Amino acid sequence: MTALPLNMQRGACPALSAPMMTGDGLLARISLIEAISPEELTDICRLALKHGNGMIDISARGNLQVRGLTETSAPRLDAEIRAMSLPLRDGLAVEVPPLAGMDGSEIADPRPLAEAIREASRGITGLAPKMTVVVDGGGLLRLSDLLADIRLVALSKREWKLLLGGTEQSGFLFNVLRETLVVDTVIELLKRLASLRNKARGRDLIADLAENKKAPPAPPLSSGLSRGSASVEKTDPSQMLGTGPTMTSGNAASPFDLFPLSDGLHAVGIGPAFGQANSGNLIALCDEAARLGIKSAKPAFDHSLLFFSTEIACRALRDFAANNGFVTSATDPRGHIAACSGSPACNSATIATHEIAATAAAECADLLDGSFKLHVTGCPKGCAHPQPAALALCGTADRVSLIAQGKAADEPFAFSSFADTNATLRRLADLVRSERRPSENSAACLARIGSDRLAAAATGRP
Ligand code: SF4
Repeated sequence: MTALPLNMQRGACPALSAPMMTGDGLLARISLIEAISPEELTDICRLALKHGNGMIDISARGNLQVRGLTETSAPRLDAEIRAMSLPLRDGLAVEVPPLAGMDGSEIADPRPLAEAIREASRGITGLAPKMTVVVDGGGLLRLSDLLADIRLVALSKREWKLLLGGTEQSGFLFNVLRETLVVDTVIELLKRLASLRNKARGRDLIADLAENKKAPPAPPLSSGLSRGSASVEKTDPSQMLGTGPTMTSGNAASPFDLFPLSDGLHAVGIGPAFGQANSGNLIALCDEAARLGIKSAKPAFDHSLLFFSTEIACRALRDFAANNGFVTSATDPRGHIAACSGSPACNSATIATHEIAATAAAECADLLDGSFKLHVTGCPKGCAHPQPAALALCGTADRVSLIAQGKAADEPFAFSSFADTNATLRRLADLVRSERRPSENSAACLARIGSDRLAAAATGRP
């Protein structure tokens, strides 16, 4: 029997055929590029019970992750999932918003470009395992806050903005392209990334382009493109790079809502708390969806599941989900916490992130107003929220570090003992409550208060 290609590296990317070892066994990722039926989702849950420990994650990017597999059961899951003929992602991750093609408010349908990029990239080898291209046509649900190596954002039906690295807000504006140039340009950039070194990411391309101003990596980019009255000629990379980080506003809408779509269709966003559900609960949700006549569902960003049907069926499913502990509202404080699997599921974790997060949601609801994600992470790797957060709690070997306006591995402003973690957070929430100005949200208040006063409050100093 062929040895299972275990993925043991930090930062490795789990896949269906290359599961990753975690604290509760192997984890295999199922990436779907289209919606499936509630019955198919039920079958996946049954396989998670049969081959794993029954726990399923819906990741921040909208992938399903089956936990608790063994070296024996993981290949069986792989084979049985593949036998279901699901729309599995094969090759490069090229992501589109979950309502793409159904959303009357989108600027352009991103699916044809995404499919063309997927196809054209098949022969490229040597890309980083987590290489991601986002093609965002605008609309009700955007992928603005997801990190991407290469991001395309529709400006009109014929014009796409291309960004390198980061989120839509922090990514580096590379160029504005006519639609007919998009695929070739993205493929040239991917080839350039593949040639740099293994695991080079979109942000590395920025430095590479700056160093090689006289060697443009891409074909003619904006030649012939007219923006307003300006006709942009073939672009020198130094000029392209001179455009710098974009100032585009991110602020992607929450998927936990009801969305009117084209042709009378609606979508409702539902999610397990902190992105993790046991299969039994998900099966009950899918059974109810099927009973209501709902025909399709799609895992989506922010740990959500979107169900598509009539408004009446979507509302009924939302009521059922709310009564059974799922997140169904953009105002649910649990939806404003990014918590990794934590202890005991991950063997790198030193804290039980979900317990801390559940207590925080119950005790600090006013702090969790949706203006930021509270990051609760079992270790400094920060899987659940790679971007900086206004406030993060990070498990370390002997205590919990508290970080403001930073990533999990950044310099803490204070520390808490393991046992005092939620009490410390309550003190910070109390400070924000007393200091908040009219119309000021929690993120702005935390930023204004600053690390010194947060540290004083965290440690209980007057
Ligand atoms: S961030 Fe969380 S899930 Fe990721 S390795 Fe650390 S403890 Fe594990």
